[in-house]
Amino acid sequence: MLNEARNMLQQYFGYPNFRNGQADIIQNILNQKNTLGILPTGGGKSICFQIPALVFQGTTIVISPLISLMKDQVDALLSSDIPATYVNSSLSQREINDRLTQIRQGEYKLVYVAPERFDSDYFIDVLNSIHIPLIAFDEAHCISQWGHDFRPSYRSIVSSLNKLHQNPIIVALTATATPNVADDIRSLLHIHSDDSFKTGFARENLSFHVIKGSNKRDFIVNYLKNHTNESGIVYTSSRKETDGLYNYLKMQGYSVSKYHAGLSEEERKLSQEQFVYDETQIMIATNAFGMGIDKHNVRFIIHYNLPKNLEAYYQEAGRAGRDGEESACYLLFSKQDIQLQKFLIEQSTLDMEKRDQEYHKLNQMVLYCHTEECLQSYIIRYFDQNETEMKCEKCSNCKDTREKVDITLEAQMIFSCCKRMEERFGVTLIAQVLKGSAQKRIRELGFNQLTTYGLLRSQTEKEITDTINYLLTEDYLFLTDGKYPVVRLTEKCIPVLKGEQRVWMKKDVTPIIETTDSNESEELFEILRALRKQIATNEKVPPFVIFADTTLKEM
Ligand code: ADP
Ligand code: MG
Ligand code: ZN
Repeated sequence: MLNEARNMLQQYFGYPNFRNGQADIIQNILNQKNTLGILPTGGGKSICFQIPALVFQGTTIVISPLISLMKDQVDALLSSDIPATYVNSSLSQREINDRLTQIRQGEYKLVYVAPERFDSDYFIDVLNSIHIPLIAFDEAHCISQWGHDFRPSYRSIVSSLNKLHQNPIIVALTATATPNVADDIRSLLHIHSDDSFKTGFARENLSFHVIKGSNKRDFIVNYLKNHTNESGIVYTSSRKETDGLYNYLKMQGYSVSKYHAGLSEEERKLSQEQFVYDETQIMIATNAFGMGIDKHNVRFIIHYNLPKNLEAYYQEAGRAGRDGEESACYLLFSKQDIQLQKFLIEQSTLDMEKRDQEYHKLNQMVLYCHTEECLQSYIIRYFDQNETEMKCEKCSNCKDTREKVDITLEAQMIFSCCKRMEERFGVTLIAQVLKGSAQKRIRELGFNQLTTYGLLRSQTEKEITDTINYLLTEDYLFLTDGKYPVVRLTEKCIPVLKGEQRVWMKKDVTPIIETTDSNESEELFEILRALRKQIATNEKVPPFVIFADTTLKEM
């Protein structure tokens, strides 16, 4: 049978070989077993039910959550001469009736339907009048409350299946691999654990990067400058942000489209087509864009804001590199984005338990941005705790050659300065005071009289800002909300100020010392290394003296 399947793969789809996991899943379905297939986004899940549909007699029913997704898949099948159709609410009643009549006459090998269709007794009646060898649940995680995209209508199909007079084989396909979701799918659809197939979740052609503390717009413009002809998607967390970035890039002359739920259906369709057919280079979109879009040559995905959880992130990032070519996924982290996601959870109608789950998932997402583990490895292990840690050698953590350096002294100076400025100013001004800047505003405020004024004058303002941002991400400091966020200290500062705890930061500290003598450079290198080691092993840090005892008590 598998030979027949392989022939179909070549004949109808033009591919010489099955991809990882496809053959096992197809074989299992052909053995008449209910089957669960977990393959990463772009892994080729469609073929897992399309080929059995061709091998079996009768009409296979495919349940799919998105109307646009159905049309695209059906169009693709028709262009390969496979008789297929879809029935959903985008059609007129007349069209629906016509199609149902044709389905009754057994004219299709595959019929795509929205889950709601199963609520119709007439539809069940049609199904009972023909032979249904297979029912496929595409995006099967929608059936589970644990999934990131739960749809009640998906779940209610389960009871409708009892109204069928035949026992079709069930195949469920998803990219979501959390054990909860998989268990849920299996128990609802009566799939034996031996009939579950999961391929490695690592997307070998993707490199993951977390970018912290950079100006996001500058980052994107810089990135685009170096990737002039590459197609990519920038995801933002709101329509407003999508509009803003879209206008900004358009003004700069970039070839952009935008997509969010606030646009008319026509506008969305047009902009999707422009992007998919490479008429525009970059798509700026909210998470409304992308499900089921089969664009192969997406070379980069940039997340402008923090996604709500890793399920959503991996799915969106996974839209890069479907053709197997090297592609990059960037997440631009800023602390304020956590607040937005928290706000969305607070505003949601979820009950307490669900809300806690969402907070927990959000935390894991934030930890992803701070972990020092390989990012691909972190993701894989999030989905499956049994996986062992590995190194992809190309994510921003694996590639990070910077050394961990002791920044306790700098941190003490920054905390002290912030306190002396009465915790009423933002990052820039604190950095300027420490730099000893001659800005008029600093003199006007009298900050040039502070004992902390100019303490870090040997560093650039950017270096100081980077350190402050790092202390913010590590929760030594926090930024207040509002239009002019000010920096405040947290309790985590106290042991550092008392000299009881050190602070470490990964930094590029290698100074450039020019020498033409390679022996000499070798020697210098050794001296530097020894020095650094000495600093690192020195247990005691003195408390920060400029910081008076009185202010320490106040905290
Ligand atoms: P998924 O639903 O898992 O995200 P798709 O089924 O949409 O992925 O497939 C992703 C892409 O991979 C499609 O363009 C598909 O044609 C292609 N593809 C699927 N199977 C194979 C294969 N065996 N060889 C080459 N390309 C394949
Ligand atoms: Mg799919
Ligand atoms: Zn890595």
